Amino acid sequence: MPIEVQNLIGGVRAGAASGRTLERRNPADRNDVVSIAPLSGAEEVDKAVRAAAEAFKTWRLVPAPKRGLMIAEAGRRLAERKEELARLMTREMGKPIAEARGDVQEAIDTAWLVAAEGRRLNGDTAPCELPDKVGMSFRKPVGVCGMITPWNFPVAIPSWKIFPALVCGNTVVLKPSEHTPACAAEFVRALVEAGIPEGVVNFVCGAGEEAGAALVKHPLVRAISFTGSTETGKIIGETCGRMNKKLSLEMGGKNAQVVMEDADLELALEGALWGAFGTTGQRCTATSRLILHRAIADEFIARLRDRAAKLRIGSGLDGTMHVGPLVDEAQRNRVHEYVQIGKAEGAVLALGGDFARGPGLDAGWFYKPTVFTGVRREMRIAREEIFGPVIACIVVDSFEEAVSVLNDTEYGLSSSLYTRDVTRAFRAMRDFEAGITYINGPTIGAEVQLPFGGVKGTGNGHREAGSQVYEFYTDWQSVYVDFSGRLQRAQID
Ligand code: ADP
Repeated sequence: MPIEVQNLIGGVRAGAASGRTLERRNPADRNDVVSIAPLSGAEEVDKAVRAAAEAFKTWRLVPAPKRGLMIAEAGRRLAERKEELARLMTREMGKPIAEARGDVQEAIDTAWLVAAEGRRLNGDTAPCELPDKVGMSFRKPVGVCGMITPWNFPVAIPSWKIFPALVCGNTVVLKPSEHTPACAAEFVRALVEAGIPEGVVNFVCGAGEEAGAALVKHPLVRAISFTGSTETGKIIGETCGRMNKKLSLEMGGKNAQVVMEDADLELALEGALWGAFGTTGQRCTATSRLILHRAIADEFIARLRDRAAKLRIGSGLDGTMHVGPLVDEAQRNRVHEYVQIGKAEGAVLALGGDFARGPGLDAGWFYKPTVFTGVRREMRIAREEIFGPVIACIVVDSFEEAVSVLNDTEYGLSSSLYTRDVTRAFRAMRDFEAGITYINGPTIGAEVQLPFGGVKGTGNGHREAGSQVYEFYTDWQSVYVDFSGRLQRAQID
């Protein structure tokens, strides 16, 4: 039986006013209807935003440590339900069960981290230039925050946004991806059961161009946090710019792993396989370029082909599978199109390049792990985000050339270097244009206590996670207290 997802607006669960719904099918088996969710529009979004605005009046006054305790409780509930939620996630969006467990774990980790922030959220105190006067600064909540999230981390990404927003005293309207409404609903349920008051977290399912767009342009929404495609991020950015809203954008990547001639090749190989084919390449931090030093390139590619060909493709619910399906038919077609583009550009298809077929695969959107060699930096497959199990191998002759190729992209999310040379490691930390750099690790695997985000076309400078996320979910208020009993003029007296 499919799960019937409902909106949650001001504590009330309901479908869309129009009665319209959207069906979500298991990408590993299109005969399995996973969820049916409301297809909401501007009307439901307006109600949700108004409920959030009303709830903000009281939620902002709840002591932050108390808000933190509720988030800890939500984390505890997610931990209790981890397995159930992970299985739902695999059914709804396809990633292998071990990775789905990791996704839920990331939300649990975020809850623990954010809960403690309820007892910090520190401001500063400062001396004043005049006698009998002190200065200090406070973090204040922004107000109603709209969260627009993708499907590839359907629990972790909402947690990165919503937990910090709540601990700071903001209220929230979540518009999840059309592909993962049931996962998002389960995440919201954990918050509700943890005692978050009605109206503080609202949940509206619907299409991006309708419900998402209505949320972005609602005048009572003070901040939008978006994770998704560059295309959509730019549209949202235009509206937020015009309306003077706070906006956090987390968009595309074209992440590269560099393997130098002095690297531990087996380690680098494991990293490349995990980085490129984990989550079927559908992570914003996925490795989509491999930059190989010429001295080891042939051997590395031979081993990569050999190992990638042995990856087991199938339903993520079967714990022995390494590579699950793509999220839907459109995404599989898109990946396949990029493979044709790569071939037409003159890259050599060394492995894969086609739908994966056979028993257990024909009812899903499976694609073979794909390796391109002979790739040059100017090719489209080396520049555009594919979001699938496709890796482009580029050969270089020096570390300097590797840095130059790695940086030759409009994006700047994740990067990786495999080397045994400490000098090169520190040069990479200095010279890679990326928000995240791994030394002797793949491009994926961020931990929640460090800031997450990218430079250049990946985002607009904000960071999620770590202690940096609070810059987005609070505004600073500077306060001057004058106890001199007379008018004192700064810069003049
Ligand atoms: P993805 O490839 O991850 O689905 P999208 O950018 O299409 O990337 O979707 C990410 C999120 O943005 C989803 O929740 C989607 O519904 C939403 N979205 C898509 N278009 C718009 C839009 N024009 N305005 C607001 N939200 C949108």
